[in-house]
Amino acid sequence: MRRVSIFGATGSIGQNTIDLIARDLDAYDVVALSGGQNINQLAEDAIRLRADVAVTADEARLDELRTALAGSDVEAAAGSNAIAEAAARPADWVMSAIVGAAGLRPGLVALEQGATLALANKESLVTAGALMMGTAAKSAGQILPVDSEHSAVFQGLVGEDMRSVERIIITASGGAFRDWSLEDMAAATPEQASSHPNWNMGQRITIDSASMFNKALEVIETKEFFQCSHQMIEVLVHPESMVHALVGFNDGALMAHVGPPDMRHAIGYALHYPERKNLPVERLDLAKIGALHFRDPDPVRYPALRLAHEVLETGGHAGAVFNAAKEVALDGFIDHRIGFLQMAEVVEEVLSRLSGSHCLKNAEMTLDTVTETDHLARKTAQAVIEELNR
Ligand code: NDP
Ligand code: MG
Repeated sequence: MRRVSIFGATGSIGQNTIDLIARDLDAYDVVALSGGQNINQLAEDAIRLRADVAVTADEARLDELRTALAGSDVEAAAGSNAIAEAAARPADWVMSAIVGAAGLRPGLVALEQGATLALANKESLVTAGALMMGTAAKSAGQILPVDSEHSAVFQGLVGEDMRSVERIIITASGGAFRDWSLEDMAAATPEQASSHPNWNMGQRITIDSASMFNKALEVIETKEFFQCSHQMIEVLVHPESMVHALVGFNDGALMAHVGPPDMRHAIGYALHYPERKNLPVERLDLAKIGALHFRDPDPVRYPALRLAHEVLETGGHAGAVFNAAKEVALDGFIDHRIGFLQMAEVVEEVLSRLSGSHCLKNAEMTLDTVTETDHLARKTAQAVIEELNR
């Protein structure tokens, strides 16, 4: 039986992971599930999957979780330290699907104990790429990408030599505002940004898709995971979301990964790797689909993409600054404190204010240096938002 843990089990990726595991429960020994505010879902799944422990991120809700688990054998725990402790419990395969920078520590701990880490939490590679990849190299663990574009690139590279790769193209649907004018985007509300034309995802990543901050994070994630130069990475708008990524080789060949927009494909690939197993996803009928479309992203409407390349040019802890500033700016937009286009302004301003800070120049990267940078960038982003509101 494979020992598996799922961090962020109550979220969109977590629920899709549970869907796959629950179909073949006898093959798995579920160690830990973690959630945040959705206590009922966490408890229900932990009981159904016969998990050893269920952990909520919110310490104040431990009693509630205990009550929901009453009568079962599942242990209850709460708080970020308890999540890290659960990640230290031996497991063969661990899903990292907490949203935001909070996902970094449990993923690192799971890697250290030698697990295969299925990485949905892109923020881990954006904020601490060198630390994540270094930890994977030193431990018995490995990282498998779950973000659909990175899973697609990974699959395109099986049996290939990285030295013959010329470019890596990741696609973007364009999100909710792909055909909106700059003026309309400036006035867009969080509600309008929260609906995605193709994918069904958590609210934060859906808004990040509309601003292309999600794609910007993915450009950084691509560079960190595949250890290529950032100049090799291209973004292509593809409204149908069926070609997830393409790998371009030095003989002119482009290998495209085509599949329905269903995260269970990438999750299932990481779950069964290196095998392929039958997955409950739609089989595409290309004749019926007829045409697929591609175009370049508009740099004026999507400044986040330029910022991603600037971050990679700077290197070091710039990714941690970028991610933290983006998270605070996103909170600001959701809370109606800043406009949609101001998110990029805030992030650019924070990057510029911290460009000379000791954090960014720190050569060594540890969980502490990343955390310190994250805090500084959040404080700076709050200040920038307050100034904008004055
Ligand atoms: P959701 O918002 O749907 O779920 C997030 C999960 O994290 C929930 O279990 C939530 O708990 C938990 N959580 C929230 N805050 C904290 C915290 N501070 N500490 C611990 N746990 C917390 O997100 P998604 O599933 O959409 O995304 C998860 C990750 O995967 C993100 O990094 C995202 O970028 C990435 N990803 C997602 C894709 C998708 O299709 N959804 C595609 C590719 C990557 P609760 O809900 O109980 O409060
Ligand atoms: Mg993606």
